[in-house]
Amino acid sequence: MGSTSPVSIAIIGGGIAGLALATALIKKPHLDIHVYESVPAYSDVGAGLALHRNALKAMALLGPQVHQAYLDKAINIGSGDSEEAQVEMATEIFFAHGPHANTAKDQQPVAELGKAKGRKSVSRADLLAGLLSLVPKDRVSFGKKLSKISEERSPDEGKDSKVKFEFADGSSGEADCVLGADGIHSVVRGYLLGEDHPARHPVNHDKWQVYRTVVATEEAVKAGVEERFTRTVPILLGPRGHVNCIPLNKGTRLSAGVAVRGAAVEEGAADGPGKDGNKGKGRKLDVGWYKDYTPEARAIVNLVAKDTSASWAVGDHDHAPVYFKGRVAMLGDAAHSSLPFAGNGAAQALEDAAVLNHLFGRVKHPSQIEAALGAYDAVRRPRSQAVVDLARKFGRVYAFAEGNIHEDPEKVRAFFALAGRFTNEADLIKQNEDAMSKMEKSVNGRPKNN
Ligand code: FAD
Repeated sequence: MGSTSPVSIAIIGGGIAGLALATALIKKPHLDIHVYESVPAYSDVGAGLALHRNALKAMALLGPQVHQAYLDKAINIGSGDSEEAQVEMATEIFFAHGPHANTAKDQQPVAELGKAKGRKSVSRADLLAGLLSLVPKDRVSFGKKLSKISEERSPDEGKDSKVKFEFADGSSGEADCVLGADGIHSVVRGYLLGEDHPARHPVNHDKWQVYRTVVATEEAVKAGVEERFTRTVPILLGPRGHVNCIPLNKGTRLSAGVAVRGAAVEEGAADGPGKDGNKGKGRKLDVGWYKDYTPEARAIVNLVAKDTSASWAVGDHDHAPVYFKGRVAMLGDAAHSSLPFAGNGAAQALEDAAVLNHLFGRVKHPSQIEAALGAYDAVRRPRSQAVVDLARKFGRVYAFAEGNIHEDPEKVRAFFALAGRFTNEADLIKQNEDAMSKMEKSVNGRPKNN
């Protein structure tokens, strides 16, 4: 089926999901892409992201330009740039409480995640700047906060009528397809699910409150933080929640954090640095909560407690029953925001973008859009929602609140090994192929042979 004019796609939200998708779709001459971003300019308040293997694979599928934008901006977490200077690093899980607590002498982690040489992290603001540089300026409009969508198909407009949308500044637009990448508080999600749907807004069922500080590594060591914890990525577990460190800026600075289960004041608050600033009410971090944790963990808590100005209630989404309706779909945090504990939110956003990019390679006419969005929904909803569940489970395992797993180090090891395989080792080429096969079935009634 052919169409003389390109299929127009409005991407709402220029975050990681929206921009990564745009950089790939703009390369397809049969599509006309425009990104609408609510903020007038990106702020440089940015969370550090550690992108796991599935994120890198998704970027490669989106195109070498996306992967390169990441490599240009990412820094080695704990070491220098040269091959020789890079050290092997892993996220190391330690018990900080109870009979299996790891002491300063026997610092053997109970489990390791993502061991690799030259592990990198990237600030969200840097990654966005890199992605934005790949999208032509006239394809992105800033200061456009979506307020309303409508997709009414009146009989005289026929099957090819456009999706209409309005912005808070009173302006409006239309496109053949709208893709909502507008983050955890997504307006597009409200349109797709209905404003009263129980899964419409983010939740914080376990009332997680996260406190974080960044200091010079030297200062952290002087304050009693174990030297080893400035060179690795430790997560120390105990019943109030976990304590962690991430070396930044080639090991010169240290991010130290405490995630407390039950410390958020209300369920619904759900923002984070780099998104909406430091919002979300929580109880004051009390070092007394940690008196039965190991001295190593308490040293980190004491450091964080000195400055808790960066504190926020994290949140995620209960499962949406659907990611699309007609010619409107949602992706990234808009569709499946997850708690940060599995470190896979951006990776899932990039997987969404990789699948949509693959499917829209075949969308040559507006009448094929619904088949593409249906295939996207069928393939991406189960996996991305499984990651939302997994991130909740990570938080509870970290807080000794997932049954009795914490009583047996073997069970903890097995949990992290399985979880790591599910997120990082996924076959994303097959995911794209499965989606395409579903789309072909829907368009042609049978799978295509090529
Ligand atoms: P966002 O990045 O939130 O982007 C949404 C965009 O839409 C924003 O630019 C926003 O301004 C815009 N927007 C919002 N509303 C509107 C509107 N009405 N109209 C137009 N535009 C709008 N993930 C990992 O993979 N690894 C990690 O290590 C990791 N660490 C994290 C640490 C923290 C502290 C947090 C909070 C998250 C972390 N994540 C991590 C998750 C990751 O940051 C998110 O999953 C990812 O940013 C989602 O990208 P997105 O584009 O879907 O949403």
